[in-house]
Formats: sequence, C-alpha cells, structure tokens
Amino acid sequence: MRCLMNIPYVDLAEQHTSIKDELLNAVAKVLDHGKFILGEEVAEFEERFAQLCGVQYAVGLNSGTDALILALRALGIGSGDEVITAANSFVSSASCIVCAGAKPIFVDVGEDYLMDPALIEKTITSKTKALLPVHWTGRPGDMEAIKTIAKKYKLAVIEDCAQAVNAEYQGQKVGSFGDAGCFSLHPLKTLNACGDGGVLTTNRHDLYEKILTLRDNGFYRRNECVSWSNNSRLDTIQAAMLLVKLNYLEKWTEQRRKNARFYQQHLKDISGIQLPPEEKDMRAVYHTLIIQADRRDELQAFLTEQGIGTKVHYAVPIHLQPVAKELGYKVGSLPVTERQAARVLSLPVSQSLQPEMLEYVVNAIREFYKK
Ligand SMILES: *Cc1c(COP(=O)(O)O)cnc(C)c1O
Repeated sequence: MRCLMNIPYVDLAEQHTSIKDELLNAVAKVLDHGKFILGEEVAEFEERFAQLCGVQYAVGLNSGTDALILALRALGIGSGDEVITAANSFVSSASCIVCAGAKPIFVDVGEDYLMDPALIEKTITSKTKALLPVHWTGRPGDMEAIKTIAKKYKLAVIEDCAQAVNAEYQGQKVGSFGDAGCFSLHPLKTLNACGDGGVLTTNRHDLYEKILTLRDNGFYRRNECVSWSNNSRLDTIQAAMLLVKLNYLEKWTEQRRKNARFYQQHLKDISGIQLPPEEKDMRAVYHTLIIQADRRDELQAFLTEQGIGTKVHYAVPIHLQPVAKELGYKVGSLPVTERQAARVLSLPVSQSLQPEMLEYVVNAIREFYKK
C-alpha cells in the first residue's frame, strides 16, 4: 500500500517560508518610516509593475474587484450601458459591471474556458459600451479577435487579468492590450499580497489620472475633490512585500508552467479526463490547472481520501447565481459554460509543490480511472 501524503490545494504558509526574512525586513522599513498610506513603496511597486506589463502606467489599488469597478467608472460606463463578459468567472467579473451601474451581458466560452469571440457580435446592441474578457485560469484570451470586434463597434476593452499576471499573448503581456488591465493581488493569486490588493494598468494618460483620483475619495489634489468616490488605495505595507515578491515572480511562473507540463505529460492517455488545451501563440501561467473529469465529484472525493486538496471553479456559473435572476438567464442559456461547470476540477499546481507530490497526484488520478 502507498503511504498517504498530505497535499493541500494551496499552502500559503509554506509559500512564504523561504522569503520570510525578506518580507519582515520590508515591513520593518515601513514601520520605521510610518508612511502607511501611499508611501514611496506604492509608487515603486507601480513603476515596476508597469514595466513588467510593458505599459505606461500602473495604479496600486485595494483589490482586483475595485480595479474592475474603477476601470468601468473611469471609462464613463454606468446606468443604461451594457458590458459583455463571461459567466464562468469569479463573480467580480460581472458584479463590477452592476456596481458601476451597468448591465452584464454573458457570452458562452469555448473549450479553452475563454469567452468565444465568434459569439460576441450577436450580443452587441446599441447599449454595449465595453468588452470585458477574462484571462481565466491564467490563459490569455484571443486579444486579436477581441480588439478587432472592439474597434469595429467602438467599444472599450477591459481585461480581467486577476489570474493572469505575467501571461503573454503573441509575446505581449496581458494588461497591455485593452484600455485597462485589472489585476488582483489576493493571497490566492500568483503575485499575492499578504492580504487584499489590486493593480490597474493602462497606456492612457487620461484614464491613469482618473484612476488616481477615483482610488483616493475623488481628490484630484489636496482640497480639490472632483468625483464622488471610495477609498481603494493599496497599502504601503502590502506594496513593500509585493516588491520582494516581484523578484520571484518569473521563477514562480516557470515552476507553475513546469507543474502544468507534468500533468499534461502524465495524464494525457487517460480517456476520462480532458486537459487544458495546448498553448498557441501564448504563455499561460496556470493560476489554476483545470481539468474536465468524468465522474468529477467521485474523483474529487477519492482525491480527498488520498489527502489531495482540489477545488471546483465553479460549480454554479454567475448567470445561474440567485443574484443574477434579475438578468433573465436560465439553465441552457450558456450550454458550454454549464456543461463545463459540472465537469471542472482544479488540481494543485502551486509553485511550492515538490516533484514527489505531483507524482502522487498523478498516480492517484490514474488509480481512480482504473477502477
Ligand atoms: C480573484 C478574481 C477577481 C477579484 O479579485 P479580488 O482581488 O479578490 O477582488 C476578479 N476576477 C477574477 C477572474 C478573479 O479570479
């Protein structure tokens, strides 16, 4: 009998052990200078993040959700407008649209879990103002097709890059294609704060200025408030730790890609599962490694028994959530999204996994499908 291993889906404590001293030093410096709000580490992080993405500007924010909401508000999108997105995403990809005052319109996805560009045009109306593609799982969307449609109908493009930091499409980083790129720095994302955080990228100076104002209660400068807005600033302490982590991002990205390749190689002959599609013209970063599995729930239960943590992202797509009733979608509205929701399973793919752990996961999956 094999001995049981314990492989959590993500082990955030383990991720931090090797860089703990560096992080504590960075925090100590902030405690010493005391500029907890918009201290110089925030500006330094923004500069380095903009460089990473190959864009002019980056603005540190308190979450990926706020990055999306502020992007829409800065573009003037609100009441009476429609924005097109995918329903297989985290709820923020749609709630941001409602929070900005507009209406989300869902497009079905393809076998790559991304909004299918061939279906977008049918959903465009005179009210459509923007396309909001999600680089789901860390796989970049077909930005060429999306930008062509956006140009034809004069729509803004907001990239939901929450899962896709460091991903590339045709050699260009995500977050640099649209009017704005919205990133999450949530602890479960690949470049993760030790708490909440987000960042918005843009090449548009006008948007950059608006976002600076919108994140800061609408203040353009001291004593001059120009918008009703909220407080969405990235904390200096988080920026200081993120600066440490930025140094490891490339290494972590490559480790995740290597883990993904391991699964591809060792699971490809199992007929009960469907692996992520091949990468064409892109560099995917595998925020999640999603497979589709026959007898998904049984497989998940079996892996749990073997000590292996997995997740389902997500069992209920956004358009079928109770909150979305008012939007008028029903079962069958988005057939591919719904079929996948019943079959998807996210395997551990974190950069802190050891080779013997991956082997253990692969062997357990093989054992399940032999039964
Ligand atoms: C995590 C996530 C968000 C929200 O980011 P927060 O920082 O948690 O607000 C938005 N969209 C997608 C696709 C996400 O995965």
